[in-house]
Amino acid sequence: MSKDHDYIIAGSGLAGLSLLYHLLNDDLLKTKNILVIDPLKKKENDRTWCFWEKHNGPFEPIVCHQWETLRFFAQDVSREFEMEKYRYKMIQSGDFYKLVLDLAETFPNVTFINEKISGIAEKGNRGSVKTDAGEYEAEYVFNSTGLFHPEMDEKNTLLQHFTGWYIKTEQPVFNSKIATLMDFRLNQQHGTTFMYVLPTKDTEALVEYTLFSPKTLTPKEYETELRRYIREDLQIEDYEITHSEFGVIPMSKARFKRYQGKYKRIINIGTAGGFTKPSSGYTFQFVQTHLEEVANRLKHNQSPAISPTLTDRKFLWYDLTLLDVLMTGSMTGEKIFSSLFKKVKPESILAFLANESTFWEEFKIRNAVPILPFVISGMKQILGGK
Ligand SMILES: Cc1cc2nc3c(=O)[nH]c(=O)nc-3n(C[C@H](O)[C@H](O)[C@H](O)COP(=O)(O)OP(=O)(O)OC[C@H]3O[C@@H](n4cnc5c(N)ncnc54)[C@H](O)[C@@H]3O)c2cc1C
Repeated sequence: MSKDHDYIIAGSGLAGLSLLYHLLNDDLLKTKNILVIDPLKKKENDRTWCFWEKHNGPFEPIVCHQWETLRFFAQDVSREFEMEKYRYKMIQSGDFYKLVLDLAETFPNVTFINEKISGIAEKGNRGSVKTDAGEYEAEYVFNSTGLFHPEMDEKNTLLQHFTGWYIKTEQPVFNSKIATLMDFRLNQQHGTTFMYVLPTKDTEALVEYTLFSPKTLTPKEYETELRRYIREDLQIEDYEITHSEFGVIPMSKARFKRYQGKYKRIINIGTAGGFTKPSSGYTFQFVQTHLEEVANRLKHNQSPAISPTLTDRKFLWYDLTLLDVLMTGSMTGEKIFSSLFKKVKPESILAFLANESTFWEEFKIRNAVPILPFVISGMKQILGGK
């Protein structure tokens, strides 16, 4: 096998395979010599991706369900709202891996190797990847492994952790047109705590118990709360658990670099490039926006090392401020989100969380929450405080 490539994709999860998909769907880039390295060849349905968008994205054919109506619940607010522009969408990772891997199989210029990467560096003005079995070079290395992750600890990072159950009932009990985005009517002793209820049929739904806190819980604790919620709040006695997923997403103030090296030959993508939103953990949509731009630049012979824009920096500051408020406990997640959902049009909140809000929407959002905790946390981010 040739060890020289145009591009090396280091890590073949969401970001690596999304990039591959973007490359293979472009007439010019699909002829490039591409090497994909990951010890795992993922096929399993190991995660469910939910996100919202205004238009159909590149993965629309594998969207397994979408909702136009969402619900939000907290102790003192309950809202059901129909979205005007956005659709809340769900993709199963198993369908995603299959779509991309099946497409890649039809390209002899794409090679997969199952090796663990021990180092990525620049060699002259090329990217070089070392594995336990060899060394590979390319014009660019696109990295989604954790090799360049900044240090994350309890001081700068909150964990978003969750267990989700796909449940199936005999009788129709769900409305598959309405999803619950957040139900905060739960014990908040561990930190920001809520349920998602995402029905895909009148007899099937994903129910996910989600927390933002410094530490994960024991498997039993997730299970107990899921069982209680399904029985007492959803009032469902008989159901079968058809699939279960557990996840931990870092919500971090640590600074992730978008690229590495003197010649910017190593491009960090996905979570590794800082595309996990620090205040919400959502990643899918931000990864796609970044990688579409990366592919577009490669196509035009431009460097794919994309620095954050002023708008990116503004939203990062909002994220770090919100995360700091949550971490210092100066306001709880439940209070923040219920203040927002009481006073602001839900579509504007979604636009804000998608980094797509207008100046006017941001003004209303700022006015909906008590000013002091946010000013203090916002100033800390400007002054570089932890
Ligand atoms: C269960 C779960 C559910 C989620 N749900 C959502 C959601 O609903 N919406 C949303 O927006 N986000 C969600 N996320 C967050 C985020 O979208 C995912 O974590 C996403 O998979 C991140 O993409 P990635 O490519 O950065 O990382 P991954 O998909 O984890 O891919 C990284 C890849 O790198 C490989 N790798 C690691 N180390 C090495 C090495 N040394 N050598 C070679 N390869 C290596 C890994 O094997 C892996 O395949 C979820 C996360 C989890 C865990």
